[in-house]
Amino acid sequence: LENHWDEFLSALEGIEWTTQPNQVAKLSQDYFHFSPVLQPLLGEKRADVVVFPLNEAQVLRVVKACVAYKIPVTVRGAGTGNYGQCVPLEGGVVLDLKNMKTILEIKPGWVRAEPGAKLAQINKLASEIGWELRLLPSTYRTATLGGFIAGGSGGIGSILYGWLGDRGNFLAAKVVTLEEEPQVLELRGDEVQQVNHAYGTNGIIIELEMPLAPSYPWAEGIIVFSEFMAAARFGQQLGESDGLIAKLISIHAWPIPSYFTALQPYLLDEHHAVLVIFDQNAMEPLEDLVNEFEGKITFLSCRANKVLNLGEFTWNHTTLHARATDPNLTYLQSRFPSDPKLELVQRFYEHYGEEVMIHLEIVRYQGQVSPCGLQVVRFTTEERLQEIMGDLQNHGIAIFNPHTYILEDGGSRTINPLQVNFKRKVDPYGLLNPGKMRGWWEMGEEGGGVNPYL
Ligand code: FAD
Repeated sequence: LENHWDEFLSALEGIEWTTQPNQVAKLSQDYFHFSPVLQPLLGEKRADVVVFPLNEAQVLRVVKACVAYKIPVTVRGAGTGNYGQCVPLEGGVVLDLKNMKTILEIKPGWVRAEPGAKLAQINKLASEIGWELRLLPSTYRTATLGGFIAGGSGGIGSILYGWLGDRGNFLAAKVVTLEEEPQVLELRGDEVQQVNHAYGTNGIIIELEMPLAPSYPWAEGIIVFSEFMAAARFGQQLGESDGLIAKLISIHAWPIPSYFTALQPYLLDEHHAVLVIFDQNAMEPLEDLVNEFEGKITFLSCRANKVLNLGEFTWNHTTLHARATDPNLTYLQSRFPSDPKLELVQRFYEHYGEEVMIHLEIVRYQGQVSPCGLQVVRFTTEERLQEIMGDLQNHGIAIFNPHTYILEDGGSRTINPLQVNFKRKVDPYGLLNPGKMRGWWEMGEEGGGVNPYL
């Protein structure tokens, strides 16, 4: 790149780009600092240039120049990923798609948009026709649609609709390849799984089609409990109540509620909290369920006539609030096996106490209601963190390790040949977000089975 830098930049003429060091530094980072393990590995990584294309034609021009000079390309949405997904390990170009944000078409049950469209923006437009996105990360105000698909997995709505990886939750994608003559492919049906949650390692998504869900008159509620297992069982029971529509059931063992500064008027000392978003028509049945589990409702948006944006205290926003109080706190991501008795939840609540504080999101997984754990951990050493994750795993709890930037190690821990083979076709030089896909160096000749980027 050094020898051809000027030639490369002149190939970008007419396209916005920057090499201004502060801007490049900012746009080379994301929220990996949630992890004390990732912080030293990624803190200094920088792109050489950040490019802001406006449309497909400009993306194609950037890609052509990058392939010609063999320059790595790391796509960026809003940079809210929490495992360094969009951090360029090998420098090169950060392709910031924030300007490609047009919502192209919207109709009942369906939307097609450019990748830089903010989720909140899509929802605003969809709400005008009585619909909304099925799934939202708690970062919905800033996160982009392309970034959510390529780097996220689920969130608010997962109790009703499951995960982004579930068939039907992502309908189609238009993808640009990194070949000498870049192609524009339309992936539909199961083909979309090739680029779904692939960290932008195997194609630049420039348009997406998503299903929408009917929008209810949603209400927010805060419910507190003196017994943690009563809070957990209430949440599980709410998830299993087929007649009660809720799109968020978020359970927090004390002292996690003490980290929610803005919610303090509605929280009680030494009490556990459940945050819910539910169909406000079901207020009375919800109150009956709360009474059954001896909880106490401290806030209802429909009664108080105000909203607290409770979604922004759940999922990984819980970790954000906890770390704002104590930066030594970090987190886990896990899924407990479906069990109406929640025996493993109880075991690990009692076993680790405040070293591993229990935060659960009740979700629908393969048709069953299960708790996902985003436990808040008092960090001591990396060895101890690994030991805790190993312990949970040995008890049948699935771990989605948030302390690695490698795609497969953070997810299923298995290489997905579908995604690796697609990368072979569309990114033959391995230029897209290099160093993130284990299957690329383990399944191929490159690197002889060893990660060349470590
Ligand atoms: P980025 O961070 O910019 O990108 C994410 C990945 O996608 C990167 O690998 C990037 O290279 C790639 N990418 C981006 N755009 C494209 C494209 N057009 N084509 C190809 N690749 C692309 N995630 C959840 O799933 N659920 C949650 O509830 C949730 N809560 C969070 C809370 C906090 C406080 C934080 C910090 C993170 C949370 N996340 C959550 C993770 C993250 O916010 C989401 O995944 C978010 O949707 C990412 O969107 P983004 O636009 O910021 O993407």
